[in-house]
Amino acid sequence: MMGVVVVGSANMDVVARVPRIPGPGETLLARSFSRGGGGKGANQAVAAARAGGVETAFVGALGSDGDGQSLRESLTGSGVDMSVVAQSGEPTGTALISVADDGENAIVVVGGANADFTALDARQQQVIGAADVLLAQLEIDADVVLAAAQARREGAVFVLNAAPSQPLSEAMWAQLDVLVVNEHEAADLAVALGAPDRELDGAVDLLAGRVGSLVVTLGGEGSLVVEGGERTRVPAVPVTPVDTTGAGDTFVGVLGARLALGDSLVEAARWGSVAAALAVQRPGAQDGVPSAAEVRTAYT
Ligand code: ADP
Repeated sequence: MMGVVVVGSANMDVVARVPRIPGPGETLLARSFSRGGGGKGANQAVAAARAGGVETAFVGALGSDGDGQSLRESLTGSGVDMSVVAQSGEPTGTALISVADDGENAIVVVGGANADFTALDARQQQVIGAADVLLAQLEIDADVVLAAAQARREGAVFVLNAAPSQPLSEAMWAQLDVLVVNEHEAADLAVALGAPDRELDGAVDLLAGRVGSLVVTLGGEGSLVVEGGERTRVPAVPVTPVDTTGAGDTFVGVLGARLALGDSLVEAARWGSVAAALAVQRPGAQDGVPSAAEVRTAYT
């Protein structure tokens, strides 16, 4: 049995700190430069594995290059089983990120191996079939996500973090057990379903009518869990953020791990919220994900 299986993207984040975001044709000198693991799938896998007590596997694709090797090693080091990750002929996915002094950013994502990941092989299907919780996002081909959902065993929980924003097919809606979105994604999905505006309350009602369990994350305002018609507000832990990259991924990864441990959705969201509050106080996506011991200390 594999507690959590995460199907999704893995990127090398290449980050330049710049005085401001350059305009067209402009060249700027960076203040500093760093590299670190990123990609929603890999971030969530690291968060689930570091949550502790839950076997976690990643299903995705990496290039046969130095970045691929380095991501493979760092995820393995975080406790993620990387044994069924596909080796692509394309380069490892890369996110070119500029962060300005005022906190504004500009990001170019080169899909690479993630974009080349168009089908699940037999070993990947087998690992997915052994999951208690299947976690996915939309940075890879939605057909691969759908195939993964269909490959899960009966009783396994499919959690979709529908990010980045895109409309979901009827087939995807039919597979969902838990939908996790931030408020922008919630409004986008609601509008795609025919909502007259982007108002949050209406969006929540509409989405909750389509899926058994819904979590809407609200940044520093916490999150809203809707289950069986009941809405529960889960507060954020008040902190001063230094880098909110990966906050949502830490929240979702830890939520998945806690569901695999048998927590209720509200309880799992409370753990996710504590872990995400620790993550926003550190730079980097995967580098910012806290350990189980840190989360436990902060929770109690
Ligand atoms: P995303 O990164 O996907 O947009 P959110 O910004 O909604 O997701 O953040 C996800 C979760 O992370 C929130 O529900 C909250 O629990 C936590 N979080 C995000 N920003 C902060 C913050 N400034 N302070 C404390 N917790 C935060």
